[in-house]
Amino acid sequence: MNIVLLGAPGAGKGTQAARLVEEFSLPHISTGDMLRAAVKAGTPLGKKAKSYMDAGDLVPDDVIIGLVTERLQEPDTQKGFILDGFPRTSAQAVALDAELSKLERPLDAALLIDVDFEVIVKRLTSRRMCRECGYIGSAADASCPKCAGEMYQRDDDNEATVRNRLDVYEKSTAPLVDYYRGCDLLVKIDGDRDPDVVYAEVKQALGL
Ligand code: AMP
Repeated sequence: MNIVLLGAPGAGKGTQAARLVEEFSLPHISTGDMLRAAVKAGTPLGKKAKSYMDAGDLVPDDVIIGLVTERLQEPDTQKGFILDGFPRTSAQAVALDAELSKLERPLDAALLIDVDFEVIVKRLTSRRMCRECGYIGSAADASCPKCAGEMYQRDDDNEATVRNRLDVYEKSTAPLVDYYRGCDLLVKIDGDRDPDVVYAEVKQALGL
């Protein structure tokens, strides 16, 4: 199963991806996670990406397309993949199509998790993540419920940056919904519900 997850930052893509990955053992390709790892490791990519990420702006297309293209060459993606946070621009979507057609591994679905922007602002400003295992929780989690690791707030989860990320989403990424609808790949799910309910619907919609 080759899936692209679409939706605004904070819509629940990471949460739903984590569940699909666990249940179906598919590689989770999250460009945000890959960039955060590069920032943490202080690599040239991380140094280049950090200022864009801190402002809530998009990292340039050529950088991110190169990163994903390389990742798709790895053998674990042959059994399928979940792309989370990519593509985010039309240029990225076109590059992905070209790469997947070269690899003869077309997309099965583009899953849109739809959530109202004001709900997202509340969600993201109270979101906390585990430093150890990446678990996504909230300000109510003193430590990670999965591994007892330290919970932290992402640098870009403050309100001003969240609002900029939503503006960027609306301008650059939302048009991809029509793009994938035109390719007859779009599956839309209401994400403003309990994650378990959303997940059940995701599986049903994907025929899993
Ligand atoms: P995320 O964890 O998906 O919300 O991504 C965090 C940040 O990483 C974004 O606000 C962007 O600065 C950057 N980023 C992640 N994925 C992409 C992408 N596909 N294109 C450009 N920038 C990205």
